[in-house]
Amino acid sequence: MEHTDKNEKTLSFLAQFEGPCPRCGFQLHHPVSTKCPECGFALSITLKKPFLCTSWHLFMFGLVASLGVCIDQIGLHFMARFYQGSPIVWGWVLPELFLLIVYFVGIFFWWWARAWANALGHNAKLAIGALGLALPILWFNLIFWIFVLTF
Ligand SMILES: [Zn+2]
Repeated sequence: MEHTDKNEKTLSFLAQFEGPCPRCGFQLHHPVSTKCPECGFALSITLKKPFLCTSWHLFMFGLVASLGVCIDQIGLHFMARFYQGSPIVWGWVLPELFLLIVYFVGIFFWWWARAWANALGHNAKLAIGALGLALPILWFNLIFWIFVLTF
């Protein structure tokens, strides 16, 4: 579609449009320009697929949040060394570093497994989604209790 053709179709649509600007909410009444008169947002007609939270998204959330937990814990171990001069306990740091790498690799593979994960059955998707939500909580508790029990 030519740019001018798209622009004409947008103007034709907008000439009959009454409703809020998608960006600022300003009430548009048959705008004669493709820019919102209030905020200057470029108005255009699009066909969009609505966002659908899938089990793939939930598990990706779990991987990313768990990675964040690892980074947080490793940071705390090194900050204790930095602020208080306490020794770095490699018995706590190395497992975190190992799992940090595991989560990085996991995110990489999970990114490419999207089509596979979306083609799974209903129960498998439920299990993956639930595991994704629980993963950072499980991971944090595992690390926390290892820390408490070996302190
Ligand atoms: Zn606007």
